[in-house]
Order: sequence, then C-alpha cells, then structure tokens
Amino acid sequence: MEIKLNNLTKVFQSKKQEETIAVNNLDITIPSGKLIGLLGPSGCGKSTTLYMISGLLKPTAGSIFFGDDDVTTVPPEERGIGLVFQNYALYPHMTVQQNIMFPLENLKVPKEEAIKQAQDIADLVGIGNLMNRKPVQLSGGQQQRVAIARALVKKPRVLLLDEPLSNLDARLRLQTREEIKRIQRETGITTIFVTHDQEEAMSISDEIVLMKEGIAQQKGAPQEVYDVPTNLFVAKFLGTPPINIFDGEIKGGILYVGDADLGKSKLKDQEVVVGIRPEGFKVVEDSSFQAHVEFVETIGRDTTLIIKDPHTDEKRTFRAIVDADEQIKPGDNIKLSVKPHKLFLFDKKTGEVLK
Ligand code: ADP
Ligand code: MG
Repeated sequence: MEIKLNNLTKVFQSKKQEETIAVNNLDITIPSGKLIGLLGPSGCGKSTTLYMISGLLKPTAGSIFFGDDDVTTVPPEERGIGLVFQNYALYPHMTVQQNIMFPLENLKVPKEEAIKQAQDIADLVGIGNLMNRKPVQLSGGQQQRVAIARALVKKPRVLLLDEPLSNLDARLRLQTREEIKRIQRETGITTIFVTHDQEEAMSISDEIVLMKEGIAQQKGAPQEVYDVPTNLFVAKFLGTPPINIFDGEIKGGILYVGDADLGKSKLKDQEVVVGIRPEGFKVVEDSSFQAHVEFVETIGRDTTLIIKDPHTDEKRTFRAIVDADEQIKPGDNIKLSVKPHKLFLFDKKTGEVLK
C-alpha cells in the first residue's frame, strides 16, 4: 500500500496563543511494500507525522492517501494500521497469547480461528513458544515482539513503529532491528519506522526521510543520502564518526583550509564550509595539508586517527579513518590528501551544498 502525504501540516496551539509548527508542509510518497525510516533529532515532528498517518492526530492542513483512498478524515480503527510504540503497552494480566488475540476479539473472530492466527503471527516474530507467559516473564526484546505481533495480527495495510527499540539495551536493539527488517520483508507490509538514531535508520531502511524542525530535508536510499547530502544538516546528521567540518575559502579557483591547498574548485571565490568524511582522507608523501596525530584507535582493519587541526586557531581535533597497514603512531606528523567524492562544500549562510 503506497502512502502519500500531500502538504501535510500540523500546528499545535498553546493556551498562550503560541504556535508550534510541528510538521511543516510534508510532501512525500512512501512506496508500497518498503520500510521507510523517518529520522531526525528529538522534537523534529516524527511522532506527530506518524500519529497523523495513524489517524490519532488530525492534520491542520494537507491530506493523506493510502493507495487511492483519501484517509485524511477516516478514524484510526478504519484505516487498517498496526501501531507499535516505544513502551510496549502490553496488558500485564494477560498471557502473550491473550495479548496477541486481543485485537481479534474486538473484531469478533471465532476463538479457534483467533488462536490459530495468533500462533501463526507469534511464530513469524519468533515468540511462538512463549504463548502462556505473562509480560513480566519476558525480556524487553520479547515484549516488543509481542507488541509487534499484536499490531500485525489484524493484517494491517500499514505498520507504524514509533521508536520501537529505544527501551532495549544495545545488544537487543541490534538483534530486534534485524528481526523487524526480516518480518517486514516476509510480510511485505509498508512500514514506517520512526527513530532519532541515524545508524538504526540507515541499517534497516529501504529509504530514509530526514526531518528537521518539521521540514523534510532529504529522502532517499540511506547510502545515497550519505553520499550526496543536500545540506550541512544532513551531512552532519549521518555518519559515525561524523563528518569533519572546517572553515574554507575559495581563492582564485583553489580551495583552501587555512593554508592547506585542497585542490581546484570551479566555484566563484567565497568563504565556504568544508565537510570531509573521516574515510575521505589518505596519508600521502607530499601535501600542504599537514597534520599532527594525537591519538590512534585501531579496530580491526581500520585505524581512526585523532588529529590536531593545524588549520584553525581553535584547539580542535578531527578524525580520519585510514588503513591499519599505515602503522601511524601518536605523535606522528603526517600529510593528507582528500578523496574528492568525500569532500563537500556548503554555503556559509544557508548550509546548502555547493556544486
Ligand atoms: P519527535 O517525535 O520528532 O521527537 P514530536 O512530533 O513529538 O517530535 O514533536 C514535534 C514538535 O511538536 C515538538 O516541538 C513538540 O514539543 C511539539 N508537540 C508535540 N505534541 C504536542 C502537543 N500535543 N501540544 C503542543 N506541542 C506539541
Ligand atoms: Mg517522538
């Protein structure tokens, strides 16, 4: 089921007549059968967007289509959605089986049929052997799977997940996110996964939508958005370790960071913000980009160099990821070149990428 948001807007009005534009003219199409990561910092409007799609919140303006159906004013229970929240919200006095069957009872599905459907869906999410337990007897990851099973048992057209992994510890979070990806693939259900965690969104989404202050900044396959960010916010939000930012200047067709010459530029002379991904550096024999290595962290094949930035007055450092074979030690003075496709220039005022 394709989901289309047309100029979707939500303005909250406080008692003091203050307005918060939580979602601002969101205009996106979510392709059928895909998992979309709705990503952005806390307060950027992710949950508000999800609740408008679910019908729990009424948009201030704009419309929502599920396929050809305009569902903008359709009540939540008639939209065919499954919702999962951060806190699992299971009924504590009910068993796993009763929790999963609960939505079917409301639909008056005959008991025997409901038991079978609950078992099928529990097997799918990997908790089929826990049907007689109560929620307190389950781990956080298992409880969240019960919540997902309960959302799926009605065979919704759309699955909406609001930070479903935030309450889990790091290991369970990794495991459960892979499970969600598998369940989504197997069911083919159009899914919107809300998270503030870029790594989580990047790892499981077919596409991400990155939001800031209610406005969608960029939409695309995770790698594509990482490789071709449209602005400084997007470039900074994606990637661990994050992109390195320098003050730069284009003078006479050459890009400089401090007195280091980073090569030709076709742009007009101006001050720019320079972003270089940590993996965009290469240690070379000769370059005017000289650097002093403060710390070295080696994990597997990659070495992260923490480098004193010699090109600004601040006592700041930046990170370069290079091959462990380079055998660089703390205290070394090195010379760096930059891979062109890992270097981005941004407008100093607007933050828009310059090409
Ligand atoms: P996110 O889920 O991305 O953290 P939200 O969608 O919850 O962000 O909130 C977006 C903005 O709308 C925030 O500034 C938040 O304070 C505001 N907001 C959310 N819900 C309400 C509400 N019921 N009343 C007033 N403001 C709200
Ligand atoms: Mg939220």
